[in-house]
Amino acid sequence: MREDIQLAVVGAGPAGSTAALVAARELDVVLIDRKSEIGSPVQCGGFLPEAWELEALLPRAGLPDALREIPEHCILHRTQLQRIYSPSGKSKEFAVAGRVIDRRAFDRHLASQAARAGARILPATRATLVEGGLELSGHYAGRLRPQMIIGADGPSSIVSRYMGNPAQEVGICQEYEMTDVDIDSDAAEMFFSARYAPGGYAWIIPLGPDRANVGVGVRASYLSGQRLSDVLQRFVQDHPQASKKLASGEVLAVMRGLVPAGGTVGSIQKGNMILAGDAAGHVLATSGGGIPLAVVAGRIAGQSAIDHLQSGTPLQEYLSSIGQEFGRELDRSVQIRKMVDVAMRSDRLINALFAALSPEQMKSVMRAQIPSPLRSRHWADGDRSDKE
Ligand SMILES: Cc1cc2nc3c(=O)[nH]c(=O)nc-3n(C[C@H](O)[C@H](O)[C@H](O)COP(=O)(O)OP(=O)(O)OC[C@H]3O[C@@H](n4cnc5c(N)ncnc54)[C@H](O)[C@@H]3O)c2cc1C
Repeated sequence: MREDIQLAVVGAGPAGSTAALVAARELDVVLIDRKSEIGSPVQCGGFLPEAWELEALLPRAGLPDALREIPEHCILHRTQLQRIYSPSGKSKEFAVAGRVIDRRAFDRHLASQAARAGARILPATRATLVEGGLELSGHYAGRLRPQMIIGADGPSSIVSRYMGNPAQEVGICQEYEMTDVDIDSDAAEMFFSARYAPGGYAWIIPLGPDRANVGVGVRASYLSGQRLSDVLQRFVQDHPQASKKLASGEVLAVMRGLVPAGGTVGSIQKGNMILAGDAAGHVLATSGGGIPLAVVAGRIAGQSAIDHLQSGTPLQEYLSSIGQEFGRELDRSVQIRKMVDVAMRSDRLINALFAALSPEQMKSVMRAQIPSPLRSRHWADGDRSDKE
């Protein structure tokens, strides 16, 4: 393998494969992933709104084909609704057309597209940054001296750390793939509760009529010494509404992972390195949804590499392109998360917040817009005046 290449992309998730796919049309690109098989093991719920919903969610972003034209074999199921449960058991719902994607198939599809565009793919290979380039260990051990590096290596990014960023604020998630469950297969459901999902939420994402991804995502500081596996098990067995749907089901797979929750990390560009996707903190903090931003950021990162290496465009322009396309939504999602952080410690406050928002206002919160009830009340101070 040649050491001197133009671009190395670390991480073949949605961000890295999209970046490699775009860049490989013009540049000499290597795409590296430590996973033996691209896309596996899966660490995701797979929920992805339909393209027209994404246009409303990210109105300034250019959505690549990777989000518009997903092959049917990568789509396991479609949902029509999002339903949100308060701790008191009340629910509100709104229309959202969703695709539930098979992340293993989707990630392999994107990496195959990158390969077709000319990228060299190196699975089962771990990258480490060293002076002047990358040290590769595993199947394709060796050294690379790329002119530029895109760090698309997920929430614990080593490229980000090498650039001097601190570890990012994350939610920790555990998820079951369950079968033989009695769910509403039209609805992606979210459950808020200080007992069953402290500082986050629990979810049921249908994979078919009787199959679902069932998970909890919480922030460690809210766990107070509890094990996340116990929290998930309690949700499945004891949650007053969810247990009726889940308790008699069987678990086919258990997965664990981190989701960035604090927005953009300190610096997403340094020297010849840029970050995209989870590595950069590109996840909407209101939902934990990271696939759309990862693909958009990957597209911008790949194009920035071309512009930089072929025309000398400064890499700082990557920051402004990201800011223009989805900076507002990302920042607002973190702002909303911080507004409701205190409420998340008390079921009484979550119930009050839930009562104050109409279904349409909940939908706008999911779209990282701030509806007036959220602005006018002092949720962040733990307002005690609201009773359901
Ligand atoms: C339990 C869970 C459920 C989720 N559910 C949803 C959901 O329903 N919808 C949604 O939109 N988002 C969801 N997310 C978030 C979503 O999965 C991520 O935002 C998305 O995968 C980000 O893509 P990425 O390409 O930035 O990073 P990743 O998909 O994490 O890819 C990073 C890649 O880098 C590789 N890598 C890391 N370090 C190295 C190294 N040193 N050398 C080589 N390779 C390396 C990893 O193996 C990995 O393949 C969920 C996350 C979790 C944990």
